[in-house]
Amino acid sequence: MLDKLNSASEDFDLTVSSAAKADVWKVEPSAVAKNCRNLIREVVDTLDLQPNPAKSVIALSLGDPTIYGNLAPPPEAVKAVVAATEGGGYNGYAPSVGYNRARSAVADYVSYDGVRYEARDVILCSGCSSALEMCITVLADSGKGQNILIPRPGFSIYRTLAEAVGVNVKYYDLIPENNWEADLQHLEDQVDAKTAAIVVVNPSNPCGSVYSGRHLADILDLASKYRLPVIADEIYERLVFPGTGFVSVASLHSGVPILICGGLAKRFLAPGWRLGWILLHDEVGAFDAIREGLTRLSQRTIGSNTLIQGALADIFKNTPQSFHEALVATLHRHALVTYDRLCDAKGLTPYMPDGAMYMLVEVHLKRFPEFETSLDFVKAMMEEESVFCLPGDCFGISGFVRIVLTVPEDLLMKACDRIRDFCNNHYRF
Ligand SMILES: *Cc1c(COP(=O)(O)O)cnc(C)c1O
Repeated sequence: MLDKLNSASEDFDLTVSSAAKADVWKVEPSAVAKNCRNLIREVVDTLDLQPNPAKSVIALSLGDPTIYGNLAPPPEAVKAVVAATEGGGYNGYAPSVGYNRARSAVADYVSYDGVRYEARDVILCSGCSSALEMCITVLADSGKGQNILIPRPGFSIYRTLAEAVGVNVKYYDLIPENNWEADLQHLEDQVDAKTAAIVVVNPSNPCGSVYSGRHLADILDLASKYRLPVIADEIYERLVFPGTGFVSVASLHSGVPILICGGLAKRFLAPGWRLGWILLHDEVGAFDAIREGLTRLSQRTIGSNTLIQGALADIFKNTPQSFHEALVATLHRHALVTYDRLCDAKGLTPYMPDGAMYMLVEVHLKRFPEFETSLDFVKAMMEEESVFCLPGDCFGISGFVRIVLTVPEDLLMKACDRIRDFCNNHYRF
């Protein structure tokens, strides 16, 4: 074959035609690429941010907990990855849904509170984002104009992923004063003949809310009434503050077929390791064809990183409970001190989270007549105080800002003080 190619090439004129070289050559991206939009980028790119050169920048905007170096994966997990790498047994392709031993390790890790998973219920993916993309793609048909229902405020990735594959999104509202619970009437109003699934995010990015079993049961009742499967984003599973319990949708035994997405990114502080999963929770046998569909979809990218798969059993077995407890304690302390300080800022109402890594803060724009929107507010705060948080507009809600709680405590405190000064300077009666 190679010989044939070589000899064939001699028959061609190998000089590139001068026309192709002379003209400016621009290759157009496809409609899929053009339709791929990320709300956070779109909003932030319009802002033209200029920090105050006299003050060091503090970014309370980045959803990567490892970025400041104060939070890192468990040493036991790092050791397991090193051992898996040095052992040499994980350089090849794994089955596209993952090695059975790794799937089995995940099944054990997520089997608690009366829920039992088997290895066959686990599909390993390249991060939780990839898990979500597969779930949306397997449940919703773009050719039929189908839609999925997603929360507002919410993480922008669901819309990005859905629209890239031609699936529409419809928003259901969350109610701030009800601990960001779903507005059930509004949720029901969004259901139409083309709805393919409901996305439930618990604990929530950006709200930091954690739903009760009662509220989750109400959502599942609606799903059951309209025979809609659920996609549950539980990437912040068990990342809840003392006094709050995490309830997985699977533990309610509602009969609703559910695809649960999770991964190592947040609870193991390793987002770059790109190890996520889909859990099939199917008590009524509704997902037989979906199981097959997900397996087919996994073959598009031939699965997730094998080194992490090889380490997975040891990551779960060797990471002490104290690692998770310390992370929760840090996040809780950061939430408490942030809440405390921002309560003293004029014109703001912080909403105390119950879990995850974020806090939403309401900006009473009527009290800040210089600023028309929360975008104007965050831009001016960057210019004067060099503190940046994402405006709620990135999550579909205006009049709010989101604060990331994973930054080191001293920086967080300094940022809160600057936010307070900024608000007190610009507040008008
Ligand atoms: C961080 C995050 C993810 C993405 O996780 P990866 O494993 O890094 O892809 C998914 N959902 C929510 C709500 C997140 O905050």
